Parts: sequence; structure tokens; C-alpha cells
Amino acid sequence: MAFPGVAGMRAGDQPERAVEAVLDRTRERTASLNQLLFGAAVVVMSILVATTPFPGDAALFYAAVVLVFLITGATIVIPWNRLPLPLLAAVPVLDIVAITMMELASPDTGLGLLWIFPAIWLPASFGVVGLVGGLVLIVGIYISTIALTQDHEPDFSTYLLVPVIVAVSGSSFLTARRAAAQRMLLDKQARLLGHALERTRRQEQIVTEVLDAVDFGVIRIETDGSISMANEAHDRLQQTLPQASEGGSPAFRQDGVTPVPAGGLPLERALRGEAFDGQIVWFGEPGADSRAMSVSARRLKDENGGEAGAVLISRDLTGELNALRARDELVASVSHELRTPLTAILGYIDLVIDDDRIPESARAKLEIAERNAERLLGIVADILAASSASQSSVELTITPDDIDIADVLRAAAESLQLRADERNVSFDLTGLEPAHAYADAQRLRQVIDNLISNGIKYNRDGGVVTIGCTVDGDSTWILVRDTGIGMTEEEAAGLFERFYRAESIRSSGVRGTGLGLAISRDIVRAHGGDITVRSYPQIGSTFVVRLPSTRAAAAPAPRVPPRDEEDAASTDEGVL
Ligand code: ADP
Repeated sequence: MAFPGVAGMRAGDQPERAVEAVLDRTRERTASLNQLLFGAAVVVMSILVATTPFPGDAALFYAAVVLVFLITGATIVIPWNRLPLPLLAAVPVLDIVAITMMELASPDTGLGLLWIFPAIWLPASFGVVGLVGGLVLIVGIYISTIALTQDHEPDFSTYLLVPVIVAVSGSSFLTARRAAAQRMLLDKQARLLGHALERTRRQEQIVTEVLDAVDFGVIRIETDGSISMANEAHDRLQQTLPQASEGGSPAFRQDGVTPVPAGGLPLERALRGEAFDGQIVWFGEPGADSRAMSVSARRLKDENGGEAGAVLISRDLTGELNALRARDELVASVSHELRTPLTAILGYIDLVIDDDRIPESARAKLEIAERNAERLLGIVADILAASSASQSSVELTITPDDIDIADVLRAAAESLQLRADERNVSFDLTGLEPAHAYADAQRLRQVIDNLISNGIKYNRDGGVVTIGCTVDGDSTWILVRDTGIGMTEEEAAGLFERFYRAESIRSSGVRGTGLGLAISRDIVRAHGGDITVRSYPQIGSTFVVRLPSTRAAAAPAPRVPPRDEEDAASTDEGVL
């Protein structure tokens, strides 16, 4: 859906053309209106002349009246706006001639007052030229008629008409100038408005084009809950959703089976004024047709900082989530299938090694085979533990006890010494303090082994792995620091995700599954603790593990959250 916008007009030139058209019409109407007004005055005058005794030449008067009617008719039928402006001056000039005829017909009746009409019109339509020309013409004609018609010496009142006409003509000129100035101002404002409209229209078009080009849905909701804007992708996404049944399309959390509680849908939350990130909702009954959407909401503020609605951004995650699910299922089933024959292989190797009849050379080789098979079994176990498909059924169990962390760290360092020597990496254990914790020693060893072996694996030749621990109130802290390749901030952000391996590591040939840290975090969290990392490229990485130091600090009872639940917690609130 495009934005509702200003009607598609060429805003820039439209007002200018409108002003031109208005000027044209004004010119045409000025001619006919002025003349009609004058005509009406002449009609009244004729009625007076016809009904009362007329002191003068009635024939000449009526000839003038006929002339006025003819001029009036002409002003109505002639399209003045298509003729050059000076031609329009013919109308008031002819009017002056007609009034002169009336004045000559009866010099003493004051018919010359009618000159006021052209005296007003001429300066209004033709400016200074109209003012000066009109006054010269009228006053000249008037004085001439006095000279021609008056047989006695004209007194003061005879000339009274002259200042009246000058005053009326002057004021008409000034009024017209003021009107013209106002029109110019209006014209300028119309032009400015036109440009502003054009700019707004162009910006609106750009925003619409950009929003319609992206593949995520964007809608804006107002404070009253109405949707004031939606881009094309939003409409497309809506069409892909399963058709709502009577009670509305069923919605489920990220796991695809837990229904979203009442009021927990993204739109409902946004309408309540919440802002959130990446809420994942499956729409439709679980099956081929259901679609997963990731929705984020942002609050909008008006210029005074008040509520101005919200923007909702939605993305179709169905493909990605289905792929992740398929991967987990595959990983889980392959790991299960591999485990059984591997256990059998290990069992038989054990049996053969225990047999005294096999030669020593064969025993050494069998021991190598056993070590590698055990390693393989370890990897398979890791993969199985990490796949969410298996996690939902097999919970990670821990059996915590009061243990000394320093002992566990020391034992781990000892067992990895050989590997460190191979890389010429040394251990710095000076930071080991007696530190008790309420933890499962076996599980914790898994975490520490992983951290130290990573410290060796991703170190430089001749580097150092610093291992330390301490207690601080309710928390026990473990630190594993290396002087290795380190990571960028972006790489560190994905570190604890399953199967994550930094881009630089993938191409380096260093072997790994990308599971160790994900499992380590699960184990530490199951204890009620956490694991964090600080890393700088080419300087090294520091992993810090926090554990509860006592049973009391470990409450509530530790357990591993199912992975879906954990992901939900890591996004926003629990509703997904
Ligand atoms: P793996 O080591 O088997 O790949 P992990 O889960 O232990 O799996 O580590 C995941 C990724 O994190 C590694 O592939 C590597 O890119 C990065 N990483 C882990 N530890 C370090 C470290 N100490 N220094 C630099 N990168 C590390």
C-alpha cells in the first residue's frame, strides 16, 4: 500500500498558472463590470430625463445613452483577455466621449459627474498613464465645454468638479497600487508554497519507494490504534499468513506449540505502549502452512515528547526457523545413530587391549585407536547435548556440591599440559586462590577444559594462558585469559551460539565444532552462574565464569532451561 499523499499535482507551477488565470479573468471582468456599473448609472439617468422636464438637447443626450449601451454590449461580448491591454483603454475613453455628449446636451445639470466612473477605472487599470491621461482628458474636455457653453463668467462652483475628479482618480490609483502590491505578495507566497509542496511530495515519494523496496514489513500505528501507513512488504506478508478462522488465526511462541497468551500478540503489545525486539510468533496451526514472523516495535514521540504511536517491523522467519529445526533434528538423529556403533567399537578395543596375547606394537596402535574413538564419542556427545531437539527431552542434569575450584583448575591445567607444550604455550597459575563453590565438579571440569584448550588452540606459539580464581561474597570467579588471536566485537557477540565459529577460524584450518562454548554456557547457567568474554583482535581473550559460592547463593535449585525458553528470555520478555 502506498502512502496516502498529496494528490499528484505539479505543485511548483500550479499556483503560478492559477494566479495567471485569475489575472486574466479579473481583466475581462473589470471591463464588463465597470462598464455595467456605468451603464446602470446611465439607465437611471435616462429614466430621470424621460420622466422629468429635461433642460437641454434631449436628442444629443439619448445619442450619448445609445453610445453607452453599445459600448456596454461590446464589453460583454469581446474577450478582453485575448486582446492587448491598451485596447481596453478604448472603453473608458469612449465613455468619456459619451459623457461629454451628455454634458454638452445639458451643461448645467451636472451630468459631468459621470466622469467619475472613467476617472476611477483608468488609474485602476492603467496605472500612472491611466491616471495622468484620464485626468488630462477629462479636465481638458470639461474646461473646454465650460468655455464653449457658458455665456456668463463661470463662478467657483463650476470648477468644483475638477478637484473631486482629481481626488477620486488619485485615490483609485493608490488603491490599485496597494492591491497590485498585495497581489505580488500573494503571488510570491503561492510560488513559495508551490516549491514547499513539491519538495514534500518528492520526499514522500522517496520514502515510499524506499519502504516499498525493502523485504520487511513496516506499519505505523497511531495512538488510537489505527494503521496510518503500511508498506508493500507488509501487505505481502499478511497475504502469506494462514487465513484466520472464526476465533482468529492461532498464534504460537517460538517453539511452535505453546499458544501466545491473550494480549501477547505483537500488535496488542505495541498498542499497549510496549517497545520490543524480535518477538517471534508462529501463525496458524503447526504444520506446513504455519508461518513464523519476527516482529519489533518502536515507540514514536511527537515534537513535544508526547506519545505519537508506534512503528512495527516484521520479517518472515519461517524458512530460517524451519532450516534450524531440520538441522537440529538431523544432528540429533545422526549423533544417536553414531553413538551405538562407537560404543561397541570402544568396548571391543578395550577387550582386545586387555588380552595379554596381543603383541606390544599392536597394543600401542590400539591405544591410539581407542583415544581417537573416545574423542569421537566426546564430539558426538557434545553435538547431542547441544542440539535443541535432544535437549527438549534430555535435560542437562548437574549434581552440585561444595568444591574447591582451584583444585579443578589445577587438575585441568595438568591434563592439558602436553597439548600446551606442543604449541609452546605456558600456563600462569599464580592467580589461583583457594576458592570454594557450590558446583558439579565433573560438569565444571568440562567447562574449564574447554576454556583452557581454546586458550591453547587460539593462542600464538610461545603464548601464555593465565588461569585464576577467587571468591567475592556470594560469587566465585574463574578467569581464563590467553595472549592469542582474539576476536572482533561482532565475532564475540555470536560466541556462545551453537555451531558458531569465527570467520577467521573457519579458514585457518584449526579444528573445532563450535559447540564447546555453547555447552559451557549451558552448564554454567545450570549452576545459576554466567560466563562472559572480553576479547581484542591480536591481543587475546579473557573468559570470566561466575558461580555461586555456596548452596544458599545457588538457590533456586539449578536446572538447565529448555533452549526455546532461554532464547525467549534473551530476546525481550517471555512471550514469543
Ligand atoms: P570450537 O573451539 O570447537 O570451534 P567453541 O565453542 O569452543 O568451539 O568456540 C567457538 C568459536 O569461538 C571458535 O571457533 C573460535 O572462533 C572462537 N573462540 C573460542 N575461544 C577463543 C579464544 N580463546 N580466542 C579466540 N577465539 C576463540
